[in-house]
Amino acid sequence: MTNVRVRIPPSPTGLLHIGTVRTALYNFLFAKHEGGTMVFRMEDTDKERSKKEYEEDIINGLVKLGIAGDEGVHIPGSKGFRQSERIEVYTKNLQKLLDENKAYYCFCTKERLDNMREKQREAKLPPRYDGCCKNLSTDEAKKRVEAGEKAVIRLRIPENEDISFKDLVRGETCINCKELDDFVIARAIDNPLYHLTVVVDDHDMGITHVIRGEDHISNTPKQILIFRALGYEVPHFAHLPLILNEDKSKLSKRKNKVSVDDYLAEGYLPEALLNFLALLGWNTPDEQEIFSMDELIEKFTLDRVHKGGAIFDIKKLDWVNGEYIKRAIAENIDEFFETVKPFIKNIPTDDESLIKNILKDPDFEGRFSKLSEVSEVLEPLFSPIPDYPTSLLALDKFQITPAMLKDKVLPKAKEVLSGIDWERGESSKSKVISDGLVAIVGELGLKNGQVLWPIRVALSGLEKSPNFATLAVYLGKEECLKRLDIALEKCK
Ligand code: GLU
Repeated sequence: MTNVRVRIPPSPTGLLHIGTVRTALYNFLFAKHEGGTMVFRMEDTDKERSKKEYEEDIINGLVKLGIAGDEGVHIPGSKGFRQSERIEVYTKNLQKLLDENKAYYCFCTKERLDNMREKQREAKLPPRYDGCCKNLSTDEAKKRVEAGEKAVIRLRIPENEDISFKDLVRGETCINCKELDDFVIARAIDNPLYHLTVVVDDHDMGITHVIRGEDHISNTPKQILIFRALGYEVPHFAHLPLILNEDKSKLSKRKNKVSVDDYLAEGYLPEALLNFLALLGWNTPDEQEIFSMDELIEKFTLDRVHKGGAIFDIKKLDWVNGEYIKRAIAENIDEFFETVKPFIKNIPTDDESLIKNILKDPDFEGRFSKLSEVSEVLEPLFSPIPDYPTSLLALDKFQITPAMLKDKVLPKAKEVLSGIDWERGESSKSKVISDGLVAIVGELGLKNGQVLWPIRVALSGLEKSPNFATLAVYLGKEECLKRLDIALEKCK
């Protein structure tokens, strides 16, 4: 394919939505795969709902994710990529349609239209414009408009014609004009509506492929009619499956976070989010799950986009993110530390190398599915030991008695840990500590659980925590001995 040009045209009526990112990503991947160009424009003609802050959020978000494309609102100094800057162009196109009698002014009042629809409902007919103003003469219409009468502009559509197109995802799609009516394309000559603006923009910007959410599929025949009326070439269309909540309802704020900022703030890595979104409605034949951006570009084709809805599975996102975190830690701990730094809270240490060692420790591998979890894992290693009951230490299940701990296990553990000389945070010491403590089991003729469980509880004060050797390494010798004393006190 030559000269592929695609577009992402969000409306700035809310923060950057996860669905917009998926659409932008598929456009980006398709354009790059085909060696084409992606245009980023802002559909801001809805003056009441459009806000500058939303526009900024959308632009910043797509730029940060690296999928904003090659031309458009995000390029400094660019002009003409906001619909609000193109009103004159739309007016010219509307005038052309009026002059050629392909569109007409409609003076019907709201009351008349409501009345008409009510009657249609009663007669169990679909609500369609009845063509009342369709045959007004151009001169009369012109006079009334000039006299200040309010009028919308409607497209005159063929009466009985099949509008068909081959959707690149969904296949042949056809609708008869009988199912449509002469729809409104502008509220006034200088107040165009979405269907008109989108068609004029797609034509002027040389768009060859319109790739967008399935919620726009019913708009496509209408837009094809406008393309034809204006004598413009109709682009190819590809409609992407809807993103669904787990209960298969349309992705909604009530059931999932929908703003990209929320995901980033929670500690999802941008690359992981993109990887996850790439799989939300597309896959490779071998079901590969983790891709670099270059691989996605190389492998992405529209014929592998799914027709059915794509379920937003947050567990899968957590898994993908966890994989990216694992790789980021292994690849460059210093860089990862900078990324995770803003998420590290309530950790009373400025010892960066200690934290880096913990993050790298194999015992913590796979423990983080989000950056926000790093603090939760680190906190027990730096917080004062919580109070805990003796029964947690002398667990019945393992037939441990306080006496056994007081006389044998805890003094022995103290002896082992006192005898080792180690530097806090040096994970290579973990094996020495582990071997020393495990040896107690044989020495005292007890079971594993009877020795290792109480030591871990004594060191953490928690029912669940990292293993005892890892804990010991990061708590440091002194703190370990102090905690063993607290445990001894509890067994008296
Ligand atoms: N502005 C439209 C939206 O945000 C995009 C329409 C289109 O892709 O044609 O849904």
